[in-house]
Amino acid sequence: MNLHSYDPYWLMKSGMVTTYPSLQQDLKTDVVVIGAGISGALTADALSKEGLEVVVVDRRHAGIGSTAASTAFLQYEIDTPMRQLSGMVGEHHALRSYELCREAIYKLQDICKHVQPAVDFHIRPSLQYASYKSHVPKLYKEYQLRRQQGFKVQWLEPEDIKRLYGFNAPGAILSRDGAEADAYLLTHYLLAACNRHGHGIYNNTEVTDIRYHKQGATLITNNNFKINARIVVISCGYESLRYIPNKIAEVHSTYAMVSEPIAQQNFWHRNSLIWETANPYLYFRITDKNRILIGGKDDRFYNPRLRDSRIKQKAKLLQEAFNKKLPDIPVRPDFSWAGAFAVTKDGLPYIGRLPGMPHTYFALGFGGNGITFSVIASQIIADHIMGRKNPDAEIFSFGR
Ligand SMILES: Cc1cc2nc3c(=O)[nH]c(=O)nc-3n(C[C@H](O)[C@H](O)[C@H](O)COP(=O)(O)OP(=O)(O)OC[C@H]3O[C@@H](n4cnc5c(N)ncnc54)[C@H](O)[C@@H]3O)c2cc1C
Repeated sequence: MNLHSYDPYWLMKSGMVTTYPSLQQDLKTDVVVIGAGISGALTADALSKEGLEVVVVDRRHAGIGSTAASTAFLQYEIDTPMRQLSGMVGEHHALRSYELCREAIYKLQDICKHVQPAVDFHIRPSLQYASYKSHVPKLYKEYQLRRQQGFKVQWLEPEDIKRLYGFNAPGAILSRDGAEADAYLLTHYLLAACNRHGHGIYNNTEVTDIRYHKQGATLITNNNFKINARIVVISCGYESLRYIPNKIAEVHSTYAMVSEPIAQQNFWHRNSLIWETANPYLYFRITDKNRILIGGKDDRFYNPRLRDSRIKQKAKLLQEAFNKKLPDIPVRPDFSWAGAFAVTKDGLPYIGRLPGMPHTYFALGFGGNGITFSVIASQIIADHIMGRKNPDAEIFSFGR
C-alpha cells in the first residue's frame, strides 16, 4: 500500500533518526510486534515495561509509515461528535471513548516526559468552531453534553472568537484538554529505548505468513527466517486491513502543508489546535520555528497517483482557506504532502482479537485520533496479555 507521498514534513525535518538491521536469523520471543510505527512503538514500550521480551519488525524503516506523515493533533474529540456517537454505540461507550482519549493525552504526556532525548510535546487547548451559522445549534448541544459529562469546555460567542483568535466564526467550543507532539521522533525514541533494553528491532523485515500452533505462532519473514512467539501484535497501520476479512474501514486521502517560518511569536489564544465542524474539516496549529501547519481538503478515494498529483493544488487550497480566516498571517507553503487515511463508520478504532487468529491482538488506530487510539490500544493489549481485565476493551472490539 502507498501510505503517503515522498516528503512529509517530519521525515524531512528529522531524517533517518535510527536505522536497524534486517532480521538475519531465526528468533524466539514472548511477543512479536509487526509494524514499527507509533502503534507498534507504544505497544512495545508498554509490553517491555511489563517485563516481556519483545521483537519489533517492519517491512520498511521504523516510523516511516503513516506516522511520518501525521500532523499529530492529539484530541479527545473523536471525529464523530459525542451526541452522534451515543446514537451509534450507546451513551456509556460514547462517553468512555471520549474519556479514554482524554486520559490518553495525559498518558502520552507522561510517556514523553520519560523519553530520552526530549521530544516535542505540548498540552494545547482545542478550539472547534462552527463553519456555518446553521451548525451552531448542533455544536451548542455538543458543548452542553460534554460540559454535563464533566469535560472542561467553554462556549465562545463570535466576539470571544474574534478577540482570542482574530477570525470570524458564529460560535465555538473551547476545550482545555488537547496536545501536539512529534509522533515520528517519539516513535524512534521509544523504539531506541526498547532496543537499549535488549529488545530486537528489525527494519526491512516483512512478515509474509503467520502459522498458528498450540503455544503461539511462527512468523515467516521475506528473508525466510522464522520468529516463534507466544503472542503476535499486529500494528501494521492501514496495511493491517489485509488480515481482516470484513470491511471495517474506508481508505481516503488527506493533505497537509507546513508554512515557512513566520517572524511572529503569538498567533492566537495559547497556540490552540483549531478545527471546524464542516466535513471534511480544515484544521491548523502552530509547529516548531513558528510555522503554521494546515491540514484537510480530504478526498474520498484511495488512489495514490491521483492523490499525489493534487498535492500542489491542495496546498494552495489549504493556504487560501487559512488566509480567508486569518489574512494577516502570511502563510507560504514550505512543505506539502498527502497520505492515506482510514476511517471507520463510528470513528472508533479496532483493538483486540479476531476470531480465527489465536494468540493475536490488533492495535488499529484508525480515524482522526489515530495516535490517542494507539495509546489506548497499547494499554488494552498489555492488560489482556498480563491477564488483567480491562473494562473498556469491549468498546473497541471487532464484535462491537
Ligand atoms: C496526513 C495525515 C495526518 C494525520 N493527522 C493525524 C492527527 O492529527 N492526529 C492523529 O491522532 N492521527 C493523525 N493521523 C493518523 C495517524 O498518523 C495514524 O493513526 C498513525 O500514524 C498510525 O500509526 P501506526 O503505527 O498504526 O501505523 P504506521 O505508522 O503506518 O506503521 C505501521 C507499520 O507497519 C509496517 N508493516 C505493514 N505491514 C507489515 C508486514 N507485513 N510486516 C512488517 N511490517 C509491516 C509498515 O511498514 C509501517 O511502518 C494522520 C495521518 C495522516 C496520513
